[in-house]
Amino acid sequence: MRDEDGVTIRLEDYRPADFQIHHVDMTVRLFEGHAEIDTTLELERRPGAPADAELRLDGDELTLTTLALDGVAVPAQGFEAAADRLTLRGLPQSGRFRLAIGTRIEPERNTKLMGLYRSNGVWCTQCEAEGFRRITYFLDRPDCLATYRVRLEADREAAPILLANGNPVGGGPLGELRHFAEWFDPHPKPSYLFAVVAGRLDAVSETFVTGSGREVALTIYTERGLSERAGYAMDALKRSMRWDERRFGREYDLDVFNIVAISDFNMGAMENKGLNVFNHKYVLLDPDTATDADYAGVETVIAHEYFHNWTGNRITCRDWFQLCLKEGLTVYRDQEFSSDERSRPVKRIASVHTLKANQFPEDQGPLQHPVRPTQYREINNFYTATVYDKGSELVRMIATILGEQKFRAGMDLYFERHDGEAATIEDFVTCFEDAGGIDLSQFFLWYQQAGTPKLEVSQIYDETAGRLTLRLRQSLDKGAAGTGTRPMHIPVRYGLVGANGQDLDVSGASTDARVDGDLIHLTGEEATVTFDGLSGRPYLSILRDFSAPVDLRYNEAEADRLALARLDPNPFGRWRALTDMVGDALVAAIRNGQDAAPDSVLDAMVAAAADETLEPALRAQMVSLPGETELTRLVARDVDTDVIHAVRVSTLAALGRRGQGTFEALRRELADTGAFSPSAQAAGRRALRNTLLAPLATAARDPSVAVTQYETARNMSDRLAALTVLTHHFAGSAAAETALGAFYERFVDDQLVLDKWFMLQASAPDAGTLDKVVALAAHPAFRLANPNRARALLAGLAGLNPYVFHRADGAGYRWMADMLGKLDTLNPQTAARMATAFRSWRSMEPKRREAAQAALSELAGRDGLSRDLADILDRTLR
Ligand code: ZN
Repeated sequence: MRDEDGVTIRLEDYRPADFQIHHVDMTVRLFEGHAEIDTTLELERRPGAPADAELRLDGDELTLTTLALDGVAVPAQGFEAAADRLTLRGLPQSGRFRLAIGTRIEPERNTKLMGLYRSNGVWCTQCEAEGFRRITYFLDRPDCLATYRVRLEADREAAPILLANGNPVGGGPLGELRHFAEWFDPHPKPSYLFAVVAGRLDAVSETFVTGSGREVALTIYTERGLSERAGYAMDALKRSMRWDERRFGREYDLDVFNIVAISDFNMGAMENKGLNVFNHKYVLLDPDTATDADYAGVETVIAHEYFHNWTGNRITCRDWFQLCLKEGLTVYRDQEFSSDERSRPVKRIASVHTLKANQFPEDQGPLQHPVRPTQYREINNFYTATVYDKGSELVRMIATILGEQKFRAGMDLYFERHDGEAATIEDFVTCFEDAGGIDLSQFFLWYQQAGTPKLEVSQIYDETAGRLTLRLRQSLDKGAAGTGTRPMHIPVRYGLVGANGQDLDVSGASTDARVDGDLIHLTGEEATVTFDGLSGRPYLSILRDFSAPVDLRYNEAEADRLALARLDPNPFGRWRALTDMVGDALVAAIRNGQDAAPDSVLDAMVAAAADETLEPALRAQMVSLPGETELTRLVARDVDTDVIHAVRVSTLAALGRRGQGTFEALRRELADTGAFSPSAQAAGRRALRNTLLAPLATAARDPSVAVTQYETARNMSDRLAALTVLTHHFAGSAAAETALGAFYERFVDDQLVLDKWFMLQASAPDAGTLDKVVALAAHPAFRLANPNRARALLAGLAGLNPYVFHRADGAGYRWMADMLGKLDTLNPQTAARMATAFRSWRSMEPKRREAAQAALSELAGRDGLSRDLADILDRTLR
């Protein structure tokens, strides 16, 4: 499947492997300094495969120690072994045969954190996407499904806990010092879901009884001394299991479900069958060390990985081009879970906010690709916001188009039809066509065409006739991916809001498109929808709940936005009207050299903060100013981050002045009393109270309100909110330095909190930050090889701090490029991920653009770059 250049892999070249692996038997012997892996594959030539087909197994940095076919050593002329490939010829034409493969690896030296590695003494694995080939030679592709029996052997002292996929089936001592454990996973799975863990671990356990009465032993393992912090994760796990039974009729299917929290992990977490491995950041919480955002993150990621058991594991992907089959769908499922467990509008707003912040810039820049890509050089670089978050939006649109019942019927059909298979997006969409009795062939373009479609909306109101006419128009520019630009099926949810804030009856709409109540199906380039018999001009609440991932262009009068922000019965619509108004006002101020957004806009924000008909979490979202990163995206061309920073800071202060009385009263009313609760309601109250801190402190030009909050805080949300205001708005002040020092002293032994300490300083929009970051990179607690710590500093600067990263003198770019070069020698996957911070360099003003290009080109020109980083740099510069 590899190209002539040896690198590009294409969807159109997919074909099944010539051999099937039915079963895998593995013994993993762990020692200090190395591991020995003995694997026996039960193989068979696939019916119809060419008689002379060789068996070509994937490897990556492997050393072969033994090789035997049906118990007989394979002679030298029968195979060819390299670090990245094992080829065998002359294998049996029919029937099953057994191939025994021995490899030797060094987990301690594995800094890529792919395959089998050691994290803080704990042995663990990460095999998605292509990590299994770093453990043994294999058909390391997701359509190769096998059952696994795994035997682990290790020193009893170093590894009292020995875990693998599936159910435990045996174990015991091995002489004086060592012991073993055996596991069997009866569910055929692809190699990317393989996992083993061994080490000194603490645990919390509970029992879950499934809907049909089966008992499952749930255990969460942590490094020693941290298991008290796993209680909330356990609670989230049980709620996820119950929710999947109720909402999708999906039960768990093994006797045990294990989760292990690991401190060196490239991503968030991994859904290995029966043995999820997590970045410890998404397991460990307590009120003293974790914020409300951390609690919400744990809940989401626990749910996400659990939901993969059906969407990803029971039904997996035929090839990596189908990644969104499991990821987009599972993100959709975890978003729905959070909506049901917390607040639907607040969750939807948060998801849309993330989509616009992460996916829109990707979709509109050089790293653009369709939700289902058709080619890649390095699959690790396709675990993107487009595959995950836009992928989820596509599932959401299918649900919107079909309606709840038919959507559920389509999901049921998908599980029924494809359980135990490696499926494609075509398979998935066909289930909804069949269950819904609908043609989704035009909709399928959403998977194939990259880019964010523009949706232009305009309206004309005829006073005398009482007639409102809406015009909708879609268009799609050709972007970096060069995919098609045909009109797509866009579901547009809307409402007409009367003067008293009631939804008007819209059933009498006449149209040249298809309208289903409050849903317009825009399928052509344009559509017109007309409403007659109106007694006055209603307010148009358009694209409710963000019913499609489009770039809405609506020349909406400020008076309409002000009215909708107050009146729209759809909470999302209120947020949408207000934030569009705030965003436009800030962009205008930035472009026109004004000091700040106008008072009319700020007053609407103050009114939203005080509106007691809305839940506090939603009010917090409405009174939040867009961050500098978001403003960079909104300004879009010839960006000068100095101007963005200046306008944002003065707008923040102006907001604090306009709202002073209201905000102070609110903060008193919402003050922390009583015992800590991580509930969404309690978190919402904290969010609103803490959002008001920055405007008040900047308006007063006085950090004392933040200092007081820092000193009296009784949980991490309040403490970190105060420290953020101090470090970001009073950088370098005695108040900020004192608080930072106290924070460090207090949490010096806590890895996860130290990450916050690094990130906070790297993300401070201040002229002194770069020097500080250079010093922090030499701090004894900084470890480039730890992904969380590296991310705190590098992504803290390049991802969260446009003012410093995009410094006009180019120093931010050069520092980042230099750090990426260093990180690439340790952990290419993480380096490549963080290099995407450069993706918007072309939207900068010329001086910055030139500096970014120079830094990027210098890095791209270095020898020995990983394929991961080279791929991102090439595409970013192209
Ligand atoms: Zn996932």
